[in-house]
Amino acid sequence: MPELPEVEVTAENLRRAELRAPIVAVDGQLPCRVFYACSPRTLADDLIGRCIRAISRRGKYLLFDLDDGSTLLMHRGMTGSLRVRDGTAAPDRYVRLTLSFADGRSLDFSDPRLFGRVVFFRRAIDRDRYLAERLGRDALAPISATELRALFGTRRRPIKLLLIDQHLLAGIGNLYADEALWSVRIHPATPGNRVSDSQYAALATAIPAILQASLQRGGTTSAREHLAAEASLPPDQRPLQVYGRVGRPCPRCGTPIARTVLSGRGSYFCPTCQQPCWSSEGPPRTGHAEG
Ligand SMILES: [Zn+2]
Repeated sequence: MPELPEVEVTAENLRRAELRAPIVAVDGQLPCRVFYACSPRTLADDLIGRCIRAISRRGKYLLFDLDDGSTLLMHRGMTGSLRVRDGTAAPDRYVRLTLSFADGRSLDFSDPRLFGRVVFFRRAIDRDRYLAERLGRDALAPISATELRALFGTRRRPIKLLLIDQHLLAGIGNLYADEALWSVRIHPATPGNRVSDSQYAALATAIPAILQASLQRGGTTSAREHLAAEASLPPDQRPLQVYGRVGRPCPRCGTPIARTVLSGRGSYFCPTCQQPCWSSEGPPRTGHAEG
């Protein structure tokens, strides 16, 4: 599932493609659940004749700002991808939306599993409200230990679930949450209010650093591909230290990586490096109840 670095890499690739020509056609699958309060038909009315002015990212959302102040917003969900296609190339079978440009190129949004999302906003105020209702501060922005503790430190939910709650910190998913917690030796089930000040300080440094390192590598394609390639890479160049590596040795101590499930989310951790430290006061809550 694409997380912040992967979406940022997509945005950067699309910016480099310089899709500046006017949109001349909009085609798509109808009906299709990726469209939220819009459809390929309504998008044709709204987008034909418009030019993309800027492409940006908020959390895991891609934003296409158009020259009339409207915005097309896309979320890649679990399997969504965007591809710029020459007029002569064939679209793949999972294309849900295609924007065709006056220069002969097209932009395809493909999504085999249909967890992606396409939304159109005529007004910036509506776009901003939509994003504000869903996203907290961006995980790539520097955050101090005090700010991170203020965000998570009064909550009883496991730190892993707090990290992937987009309303609190936008952009982190399962993969980078597990990597960040392993790097600072925090057990994923530790309640937010039982994480120590020094652990919050370490986490505040680790989160942007891990996301930035992945961005430099061009994002993480999939855990499966990385596990297949792992043997050929020196340990210090492996992009995944813990995620998806159940049973494989912890790169730090050699203990086999374990997996636990928190509110339905598989979480990978090292049982030696990431010991539970709140056991004196009983197990943490794993539900959504907030404290
Ligand atoms: Zn370890």
